[in-house]
Amino acid sequence: MSGGALNLEQTRDMFANVAWKMEESKDALTLADKAVGDGDHGIGMSRGFKTVGEKLATVPASVDELLRLIGTTLLASVGGASGALFGTFFRDGAKHLAGCTSFDASTLGRFLTDGLVAVQERGKAQPGDKSMVDALEPAARKAHELAGAGLPESLAAVAEAARQGMEQTCQMTARIGKARTLGERALGHPDPGAMSVYLIFKFMAEHVQRSTKLSSRECST
Ligand code: ADP
Ligand code: MG
Repeated sequence: MSGGALNLEQTRDMFANVAWKMEESKDALTLADKAVGDGDHGIGMSRGFKTVGEKLATVPASVDELLRLIGTTLLASVGGASGALFGTFFRDGAKHLAGCTSFDASTLGRFLTDGLVAVQERGKAQPGDKSMVDALEPAARKAHELAGAGLPESLAAVAEAARQGMEQTCQMTARIGKARTLGERALGHPDPGAMSVYLIFKFMAEHVQRSTKLSSRECST
């Protein structure tokens, strides 16, 4: 990692790590969706990200191609409302990154801003409806604010913003998705899609922190 930017192979490695960790998060996501939905979110996301991990065995030719590959794979393999929405997030997040061959805080800002717009266009959820948008919207705002910062700093702040957004869904009743029939019984439980959003950014941030530590150790020897 040089100058706060990941090259293509490092970007692939970061998303391969996300894919592996999302697969491992299956049970936590299942539990979350059992509390406020039909319990399939963990199965869908782990199936989708397992396939993403397999597809990332080769390095795509650009960042937009990589994000589109992730999106298309999730669209085809996750199922449920979230398959379409996470697929759209990655696919449309690549909209203004044509030919881009590195990933820095500014790339992250573009990806999240465009991805959020597309998710809201497709799903019509607003902040406060108890959905993935409640984690995605503050994360995208933070990524936009920190577009000029270093990638590790920006990703850590984005993950924290998503975590807080997810926590806030515990205090919401749902106006969208399967949980809307639960009324006040949804209170006290986080939205499963918001949890997935938080986990994706957390795993990106952790990977980049680890790689930064590794390369600074390499430099000091
Ligand atoms: P399903 O609801 O079809 O069983 P999942 O369980 O995989 O799908 O995903 C549920 C998550 O999808 C919810 O927790 C919520 O975050 C997200 N979601 C559902 N509908 C919408 C929507 N219209 N806009 C944004 N997010 C949505
Ligand atoms: Mg479900």
